[in-house]
Amino acid sequence: MLETAVARTATRDVAAHRLPPPPSALRGRIVVAAVAVGAFAAAGAGQTLHALGSGSDAPATDEVTPLAAASEGAAAFGIGGSGPAAPHVLPVSKNADPAAEAQKLTKSARISEDREAAEAEAKRPKYSRPANGDFTSGFGGRWGTMHNGIDIAGPIGTPILAAADGVVIEAGQASGFGLWVRVEHPDGTITVYGHVDTYSVRQGQRVQAGEQIARMGNRGFSTGPHLHFEVWNPGGMKINPLGWLNAKGISV
Ligand SMILES: [Zn+2]
Repeated sequence: MLETAVARTATRDVAAHRLPPPPSALRGRIVVAAVAVGAFAAAGAGQTLHALGSGSDAPATDEVTPLAAASEGAAAFGIGGSGPAAPHVLPVSKNADPAAEAQKLTKSARISEDREAAEAEAKRPKYSRPANGDFTSGFGGRWGTMHNGIDIAGPIGTPILAAADGVVIEAGQASGFGLWVRVEHPDGTITVYGHVDTYSVRQGQRVQAGEQIARMGNRGFSTGPHLHFEVWNPGGMKINPLGWLNAKGISV
């Protein structure tokens, strides 16, 4: 009994004296700062190599340059100068506040990430052909009835892509179409994808132009695997999808 009590007390003491680990965010900053300091040290090493390399353009110098440009303190490095380089490096390493330098590096990385994202957004296509395959039927009167869309035929499973950015307003069963997907676009236009074999989106999901939303099938009133594609204008009128696609720079 006594032994147990002692053991318990000992355990409690150990626990009481254990320091809490640093918060993970702080640890992250320390790592980044260490990387930054390491980078400066590497810059110093490169500089030393340069000095030893009899003034010629050593490869190490090229590696140093972009890093130096990212730091105001790097001006003191005297890169490319003919004087004794190494003594300049040490004061910079000591004076630079690693946390501030790390913050600067992180900020510039974030700015360049934002810029890349904006460029990618500007470059990506805003409209897409809804499926690859053979154009087999146009919009309009057909066999005495009205065909409200266009047909693109292909093997079962052919990817069906959103024609434009939008929100899925329906994905499921539809009379005549077996299964369909409907996507509403920002201007109120709705695109319809019928006879699909399977769909991979759900109601409320945002999709981008060219994003796969379904696969071509032969469900409903269909005489062979194809996509039946409709475009409903913001007023709800079914319009010729070819004209709509052509106006967006897409040929079928
Ligand atoms: Zn059709």
